[in-house]
Amino acid sequence: MHSLSAHLMLLFSAVIVVTLALINTYPLLTAQDLMMETKRSDMLRTANLVSSSLSGLQTLGRDRVSAVMTQLDLYGEGRIFVTDTAGEILFDSAAETSLLGRDLLRRELLSALRGQDAFRCVYRDGAFESSAAVPITTRSEIFGAVYFYEYDAEQGALLLSMQRYLRYISLILGALTLLASLAFSTVLRRRVHRLNVAISEVREGHYSHRVPVSGRDEISRIAEEFNALSGRLEQTEELRRQFVSNASHELKTPLASIKLLTDSILQSRNMEMEDVREFLGDVSEEIVRLTRITDRLLNLTRLDVNLHREFIPVSVSYVAERAARMLQPLSEHYQVTITCEAEPDCLVLAEEDGMYQILFNLVENALKYNVPGGSVRVLSYLRDDKVTCIVDDTGIGIPEKDLPQIFDRFYRVDKARSRETGGTGLGLAIVQDTAAQYGGRVWAENRAQGGTRFTVEFPALDITRYEFE
Ligand code: ADP
Repeated sequence: MHSLSAHLMLLFSAVIVVTLALINTYPLLTAQDLMMETKRSDMLRTANLVSSSLSGLQTLGRDRVSAVMTQLDLYGEGRIFVTDTAGEILFDSAAETSLLGRDLLRRELLSALRGQDAFRCVYRDGAFESSAAVPITTRSEIFGAVYFYEYDAEQGALLLSMQRYLRYISLILGALTLLASLAFSTVLRRRVHRLNVAISEVREGHYSHRVPVSGRDEISRIAEEFNALSGRLEQTEELRRQFVSNASHELKTPLASIKLLTDSILQSRNMEMEDVREFLGDVSEEIVRLTRITDRLLNLTRLDVNLHREFIPVSVSYVAERAARMLQPLSEHYQVTITCEAEPDCLVLAEEDGMYQILFNLVENALKYNVPGGSVRVLSYLRDDKVTCIVDDTGIGIPEKDLPQIFDRFYRVDKARSRETGGTGLGLAIVQDTAAQYGGRVWAENRAQGGTRFTVEFPALDITRYEFE
């Protein structure tokens, strides 16, 4: 009995039993009480009427009592006795089984003879058996008593039929509720089972498994969330697979070159020292390239791990100017001019190294994918709580179809050119991941007049709210 549906069933059954028990007792007891109360007031009223009619008589003689009683004629279903103080019956309304002359020593009569009205009613074998007794007094002296007895099977039958109906209703209600709760717990069990199966499937690595979702209740929402989660896992797994295959491919190429170069040296017996040096120079270049790739991969992994890092106010303008300055020699190499227009107060909560890396990569690309005599323009400004930095170039541009992918890891539009310029295809992925760490985003577009525009946008730091340590 560990399942949720079994617990629910047990709870439902307990609630049904308690409810049905209440339905079968409370209304019946109330009706019974009500009937008894009506009987008490009716019977005591009749007995009192008889008593007051008889209290006018000086003495209670059988004939005189009988005469008064005949006149009254009000006992209906019941049977009325009039007794003297000793309990001897002077009048009995049931003519055919008259108990005249006998002693009637019932409890109620005895209390009436002691001066107290008495009433008793019991419900037994489907009938109400009730008796009421009142004293007959004249000038506060008791000289007899009226005893009223009634056996009422009619109202008893009414109560019995009510009990029967309630039992039928309870049976139907119980059966219906039981069926409904059985159906409900079966459906619940099935849905939870489906979720369990899906969780095990995904745990086993079948990320494409989905739970069918129907309805809008909590379980459906859990199923939806679960589907979204496994979708995410599937995506991450796919990215991971792609990343590993791309990374190994990227590492394989320089390694293959190194192998080729060293084999060439090893295999040729009398190689000129000059050629050996040249080959080793190539090997060294490939090693530099390998080192660059691994450095960048490490950089990306550090971003993925998302360690708790401390962000400080960083001036984007200052960092942009620094990156442009550092790349001055490269710009001369490519014969491209760099201009930097940076507004002050462009503060962002970030890390200086990360911000430098972003701007360095963007400006470096703008130089690398440019043409001799071209230019690069770096702009940074603050507008509407956003710090924006734009890197414009007059370079070769990016084909529209490649634009959505250029931020993917290892994606390069022109592999040969990228390799030639020492590219790894990781620069823009680092830019995007780093910008996202600071709440920013980056996008690229081709400029109408030729070349590319890269825009990075960050939420500006409100210096008035920043608490310096
Ligand atoms: P890489 O190391 O190859 O430069 P990036 O991730 O920095 O890798 O860039 C990805 C690709 O996007 C590059 O290979 C290049 O084809 C293209 N690219 C990036 N910046 C520019 C630019 N300013 N102009 C033209 N193409 C660019």
